[in-house]
Amino acid sequence: MMMMIGWMLITASQAQQNANHMQLDIKQHIQRQNIRIPNIEGYQTLKGDFHIHTVFSDGLVWPTVRVKEAWAEGLDVMAITDHIEYLPHKDHLKKDHNSSYELAKGEAEKHNILLIKASEITRSMSPGHLNALFIDDANKLDKKKVEKVFDEVKAQNGLMIWNHPGWKAQQPDTCLIYDIHKKLIKEGRLHGMEVMNHNEWYPVVLQWCIDHQLAVFANSDIHNVNGYVYDLKHAHRPMTLVFATERSFAGVREAIESARTIAWFDNQLAGPQDLLSQLFKASVVLTPSFYKDKKMQYLELRNNSDLPFAFVNETPENGAPEKFRLEPGKTIIVKVKKGTRSFRCTLENCHIGMFQNMQVDLM
Ligand SMILES: [Zn+2]
Ligand SMILES: [Zn+2]
Repeated sequence: MMMMIGWMLITASQAQQNANHMQLDIKQHIQRQNIRIPNIEGYQTLKGDFHIHTVFSDGLVWPTVRVKEAWAEGLDVMAITDHIEYLPHKDHLKKDHNSSYELAKGEAEKHNILLIKASEITRSMSPGHLNALFIDDANKLDKKKVEKVFDEVKAQNGLMIWNHPGWKAQQPDTCLIYDIHKKLIKEGRLHGMEVMNHNEWYPVVLQWCIDHQLAVFANSDIHNVNGYVYDLKHAHRPMTLVFATERSFAGVREAIESARTIAWFDNQLAGPQDLLSQLFKASVVLTPSFYKDKKMQYLELRNNSDLPFAFVNETPENGAPEKFRLEPGKTIIVKVKKGTRSFRCTLENCHIGMFQNMQVDLM
């Protein structure tokens, strides 16, 4: 009888405990998406987004969350670029242009993400919006005259990129480069331009970058939660591929200054021909004529990257299809007529100039 009472007491106390506190097993371990983009000769390929907003300007997200998003999406390098001149949350948050960087820095270090200190200089056209990267003190960029801001960026040894030059809010009918941009380029103060921003792409800006040997950028300019804007299951945010001698701030900086970048968004790649060509060669393994029958010979193309390639056959007399695609991580077999000597293709999604696509020889 005594034993029975003891058992009943324990049961009662357990029931009491469960009524006060129960935990559900909902823990989600976020895993980083590995983006497979090979290195090229002499350089590491880093994935970057150099234009990101937080609540400290007109974004809706806390800085540390931006780092976790970037990590989960496979980025190596990022810049939080809150507006200097546009602070719609200033009644609710202390005005300090360095806050977003300072809050995110520790989180970036814990996730092995290179977080570049940056700000967005936000003016009407011209000069429009420019990101200042690798700055020391964003508060010192809060000046009335934009020329003084540019001088301050220079004094802090920062780099500048021109954001969304073709944004319709600032260039409704055209996309022009203004004298102030030409002057900045001439003085070596403008180091790159966004050829892709958010969901936009500006082929004319690619041409300016090629002509002036400036780095091309594809940046998200994200304001909302990234997963609310981009379909992350099937696609990715705009990314700037940086070909760096090392995975460090100095490495990223040197790559931008040397214009060793490629813009990547929505299956489109844009950048200098030599880099795109090296990236294609590093991504796609070609096995020529591994088999021949009476009429045809067979080639194999294996894509070891997460980049798609869209081919247009420029020598259709060789019997190969007029158009074919090589999807990320896939292999295709292409048949051409026996005795074919030439198999030149244009890559529809690899842009090396305003109206110019990269060509490759598959034989
Ligand atoms: Zn902007
Ligand atoms: Zn922006």
